Amino acid sequence: MEEKQNLNFLEEIIEEGLREGTYKSILTRFPPEPNGYLHIGHAKSICLNFGLAKKYGGKTNLRFDDTNPVKEDTEYVDSIQQDIRWLGFEWAGVHYASDYFEQLYEWAVMLIKKGLAYVDDQTQEEIRAGRGTVTEPGKNSPYRDRTVEENLDLFERMRNGEFEDGSKVLRAKIDMAHPNMQFRDPIMYRILHAEHHRTGNKWCIYPMYDYAHGQSDSIEHITHSICTLEFDIHRPLYDWFIAQLSIWPSHQYEFARLNINYTVMSKRKLLQLVKEHYVSGWDDPRMPTICGFRRRGYTAESIRNFCEDIGVAKRDNIIDYVRLENSLRDHLNQVAPRRMAVLDPVRVVIDNYPEEQEEWLDAVNNPENPADGTRKVPFSRELYIEREDFMEVAPKKYFRLSLGREVRLRYAYFVTAQSVEKDAEGNITCIRCTYDPATRGGDAPDGRKVKGTLHWVSAKHAIDAEVRLFDRLFAVESPDDVEEGKTFLDNLNPDSLRVVTAKCEPSLAEARMGVDDKGIPEPARYQFERMGYFCTDPDSTPEHLVFNRSCTLKDSWAKIK
Ligand code: ATP
Ligand code: MG
Repeated sequence: MEEKQNLNFLEEIIEEGLREGTYKSILTRFPPEPNGYLHIGHAKSICLNFGLAKKYGGKTNLRFDDTNPVKEDTEYVDSIQQDIRWLGFEWAGVHYASDYFEQLYEWAVMLIKKGLAYVDDQTQEEIRAGRGTVTEPGKNSPYRDRTVEENLDLFERMRNGEFEDGSKVLRAKIDMAHPNMQFRDPIMYRILHAEHHRTGNKWCIYPMYDYAHGQSDSIEHITHSICTLEFDIHRPLYDWFIAQLSIWPSHQYEFARLNINYTVMSKRKLLQLVKEHYVSGWDDPRMPTICGFRRRGYTAESIRNFCEDIGVAKRDNIIDYVRLENSLRDHLNQVAPRRMAVLDPVRVVIDNYPEEQEEWLDAVNNPENPADGTRKVPFSRELYIEREDFMEVAPKKYFRLSLGREVRLRYAYFVTAQSVEKDAEGNITCIRCTYDPATRGGDAPDGRKVKGTLHWVSAKHAIDAEVRLFDRLFAVESPDDVEEGKTFLDNLNPDSLRVVTAKCEPSLAEARMGVDDKGIPEPARYQFERMGYFCTDPDSTPEHLVFNRSCTLKDSWAKIK
């Protein structure tokens, strides 16, 4: 048997080209438009482009596809670079499509001279109407047969700023009846008097995606220009421009974009969520942006593993959000130190525990990694446990604390609930228990078993922390699917953020934000025993600790469904 196992279709293409000597090494590129922050879909593209290059000893360029000055900004350029680095990748060169504006212009002139491009004075609406439909051919523009001289003159004057926005475009002269609509004289340039974040006011004509992208690839000698499936109908045009210009032959390959349920992934919609304050910013921990996931406590490794795990498809599909969470759980289970914190505290008094006594008990930092050792947690007569861990009268299957039932307090003792105190409304204010001193450390010398083990904190040692409990930003699987008159905003989950004050074991007082080896803020991450994975938020200070819930321990939605 050949070793051809488990290659995805792109790897097969690359290996074939290397075998046949089409190229000696590969060069890929990641081409974001700097008009927003990167999202998890971009992470897929980054892992793919950089990952393939790494696997085959090639390189990857970062190229900003900055051909639309109106929506672009250096804020986005900076954030994109940071996010790629944080994900663990380094580019060979950083380029900008705007660096190629002069070259692209010269090539456009070349196409005009070959009779393959013309200046069209029709309005946008006329151009659209003239393109025809999939079943009907388009109509030639009345300006289609301008002479080369006239086109050269008009195009130069377009560049010189003599015409208003929208009054003229440069179009490729191909075939208005072509079965592929992309070939019906596609627009190459439009007039836009706008300040560009890099070229300032030097240009007032800007190339369209189809004219800029392939030529930029060609200039950089990109061997594999990988993009998402919806561009497959653009590929023939990509090839056409390269062929007509007789320039270095880059090739485009398409794969299925990453879609995840319960979220939206278009930059336009993410921008709207930010601008209209549905979230606190691009890095709101509920956002599907890379910086949002980072603030939420996701590790770069968990995102890379997720992208690897879902693979590369040739057909569109929707990935379950749970797979992303599971990737985080898998990683944090290995590396996150365990701590005890009570998110919804109710008071417990152990009546037979001496009033002035306190003990510092050994607690394991991470059972998955014995090298992490142990720490001391204080135990005393008054504790907090989770309100949901107690029921006065409990059904048989309830293995937590209830009247007359014995449970283990983790690392400490067996306790039995004896009575409860309530306020005027009937809410439990205190659970009175007894403990068995012989069970210190959490095991009974007589071998008797308990079914439940609870986390707890000593009341007088506990420190308060603000804990932000995040849930899905959208309440439905496909937030983009909306009835008439509604928008994706109608699908927002009204309970996606709940803030509580937790009682934490005192060692958490040291929880601080840090920085990673690239100088990017890095939270401290913990497993709060039985409650999930949590991390420090940038809002956290030594005086006011703030933790974000990264995810619960198990998929809490699977149970609901
Ligand atoms: P959006 O539709 O969210 O605005 P975009 O495609 O316009 O995204 P670009 O900045 O042009 O955003 O994308 C940069 C690269 O990332 C492109 O190569 C694009 O194909 C890829 N990409 C964008 N979204 C996804 C996705 N969901 N899955 C995989 N790759 C993606
Ligand atoms: Mg795009």
